[in-house]
Amino acid sequence: MKYLLWAVLLYLGWRWYLSKKSQPTSPSQEASAATDQAPEAAASTEKMVACAHCGIHLPLSESVQGTGALHFCSNEHRLRHSGS
Ligand SMILES: [Zn+2]
Repeated sequence: MKYLLWAVLLYLGWRWYLSKKSQPTSPSQEASAATDQAPEAAASTEKMVACAHCGIHLPLSESVQGTGALHFCSNEHRLRHSGS
């Protein structure tokens, strides 16, 4: 029974050793994964603006430009804001 315990410990130690040994290769994998997600990251870091009517936040490129420096989430809110 003790031999089984040692076998398990050796197995876990071997697994730990392999995981530490394989770590230098993982940053490159993470880097490639990061480049795959670069467009999303760029979109998330895009300037966010708040709708002047309802206050919802949305990317500047998806906002509707109103009068002056106002931004709106949709053309409907732009018309409602200028109408009221
Ligand atoms: Zn809105």
